Amino acid sequence: MALLRNDPAPLGKVLLLPGDGIGPEVMREVRRIMDWFARRQGIDFELGEGLVGGISYDRHGTPLTDEIMERAQAADAVLFGAVGGPKYDDLPFAQKPERGLLRLRKELGLFANLRPAKVFDALVDSSSLKPELVRGLDIMILRELTGGIYFGEPRGIETLPDGQRRGINTQVYTTGEIVRIAKVGFELARKRQRRVCSVEKANVMESGVLWREEVQKLHDAEYPDVELSHMYADNCAMQLVRQPKQFDVIVSDNLFGDILSDCAAMLTGSLGMLPSASLGAPDAQGKRKALYEPVHGSAPDIAGQNVANPIAMLQSFSMMLRHSFDQDAAADLLDGAIAKVLAGGLRTADIMQDGMARVSTSTMGEAIVRELDKAAA
Ligand code: NAD
Repeated sequence: MALLRNDPAPLGKVLLLPGDGIGPEVMREVRRIMDWFARRQGIDFELGEGLVGGISYDRHGTPLTDEIMERAQAADAVLFGAVGGPKYDDLPFAQKPERGLLRLRKELGLFANLRPAKVFDALVDSSSLKPELVRGLDIMILRELTGGIYFGEPRGIETLPDGQRRGINTQVYTTGEIVRIAKVGFELARKRQRRVCSVEKANVMESGVLWREEVQKLHDAEYPDVELSHMYADNCAMQLVRQPKQFDVIVSDNLFGDILSDCAAMLTGSLGMLPSASLGAPDAQGKRKALYEPVHGSAPDIAGQNVANPIAMLQSFSMMLRHSFDQDAAADLLDGAIAKVLAGGLRTADIMQDGMARVSTSTMGEAIVRELDKAAA
């Protein structure tokens, strides 16, 4: 394998925030894989580690200290495990573990949420859809994360003169917000099959009309090499379960993207297999702030038992290699090793199937390292 970097300098700064519950267990497996890449491929990072979520609250009385926030700002990428647990359920809103993650997303300006839905051949039977519909599925849902109806003003619940109450939220997007997320979509598509499907409800919402016009304008001006289609969100939800392989990159707003990404995620069958990335705007050097995390939470029901599936976390690391450090070959190597281990029949409990071998979190990590060794031999 001619992957070995000659330059011994670290590729950049990475901050590890394992968090609560199974977070530290799955992060341990990332460390194992990172060690392998440093040792065998010269792909090395300047690593820091910190507390976030409930464990930070226990130690410092807050789910995210200013110090960790500053270190996240200074990092090229943040790798995040998971936060939360029943112990913290009754805390006031501002101290809840999840606030730590929300603060990171907000202050790092992470407006683009990437959720791949990829089905490993070995797991086609885990999907709720027929195997022929999902075999080979590899799509990317791109969701706008910081605008739209979840943040728009006016919002609130008011009491009307006749005593009824009225709840209000406002869907609002500026051209700038639309263009920057669409750009991420087109750039992603250029690294994939060069197809983008932009999703809104232009039939009933003015914000959707603007969305459609701006995405089309950007496409015509800067990305004519990418195939662009438009689809209404309700139809997209239907198409995702009817024929998901018709898509490559789907780009949508905060609300529709939230729903569509969960729907697409479940096509793959297991929460323990789903990574995600959240990216900010590029700086003068073209570098984006970025946070990578599994979609799953802290899974308190299985925490501390060495049974969690580390693959969502490992694939989050693979996304980091690809999107923050342009190490596509290394990411391919890791994705390939994971696919081989699954094809060989090893399964953590959450993806266990008849006739397969049930293994622990750490055994899964070790098996992936062995596959990496073989691939690099
Ligand atoms: P969860 O994702 O933690 O767990 C849901 C179910 O999936 C559980 O049965 C769990 O055992 C299983 N599961 C999840 N990840 C798994 C893995 N890697 N391997 C094997 N099984 C896995 O969601 P939940 O139970 O709704 O929430 C638990 C806690 O996590 C709550 O405090 C919640 O607020 C928090 N949470 C955090 C995040 C985050 O940190 N981004 C996301 C979702 C939920």
